[in-house]
Amino acid sequence: MDDLSGKLALVTGASRGIGRAIALELARAGADIVVHYRTRVEQAREVAAAIRSLGMEAKLVQADVSRSAEIERLAREAGQVDILINNAGIAKPQPFEEITEADWDELIDTNLKSCFLLTQALLPGMRARQLGRIVNLSSVAAQVGGVVGPHYAASKAGMHGLTHFYASRLAKEGITVNAIAPALIETEMVTTNMKATPDRIPVGRFGEPDEVASVAVMLARNPYITGQTINVNGGWYPS
Ligand code: NDP
Repeated sequence: MDDLSGKLALVTGASRGIGRAIALELARAGADIVVHYRTRVEQAREVAAAIRSLGMEAKLVQADVSRSAEIERLAREAGQVDILINNAGIAKPQPFEEITEADWDELIDTNLKSCFLLTQALLPGMRARQLGRIVNLSSVAAQVGGVVGPHYAASKAGMHGLTHFYASRLAKEGITVNAIAPALIETEMVTTNMKATPDRIPVGRFGEPDEVASVAVMLARNPYITGQTINVNGGWYPS
């Protein structure tokens, strides 16, 4: 799928941050985009308008991905998706001693279960067409623990398990599945977390959403990379 024109990409959590940058970069590469959001409708509308001004089609779909019925509706309303970017996610930085079962469930449902359910919902169409790209936004937290909490780290590590399983099963069907593991990209998720400071990053600064988006487009184009985790982390290497 070197050429993305005529392809439809669903980017979850595209109203802001990394998802917004990926949606715009995929549109620049020629894809039409389903701009998914949860609450920030105005910001999502702006992203859709920017995509249309690039000459691509944009459809807005609202859904809370922590609810399975809403994921079913999202998959239905999105249409025939060729490129799925599982990006929507939350971080709840809190002292780990205080994390409750409800906090755990919220993180796992939003970050991990949603990735599983949406992938399951869209895979039959991709398999029928023998064409698909799935990119899962995990995190350096899956590899080093990170600065949010064990619930967040576990949700992101789980995405690596999903990535490996689906990649190996779907390799012969024209479908690639990869993860991107960023570290400290300058978005609301990072700027609202007091423990996320640029001095943790060898490069010496936060990353830009565009620096993740360019990798997502590369993975969307490339049919021979699958089952991989691409680290976009300013040198915060897993040890
Ligand atoms: P932001 O907090 O800036 O944006 C989060 C996005 O997810 C928003 O579009 C939001 O929608 C959406 N979202 C959140 N909860 C839900 C939900 N229940 N249902 C549907 N949509 C939801 O995050 P980032 O852009 O920073 O992060 C994007 C992804 O990258 C996340 O999965 C994050 O864990 C991961 N990541 C980020 C890193 C970073 O340094 N920023 C590092 C490593 C991984 P709305 O705006 O409508 O509320």
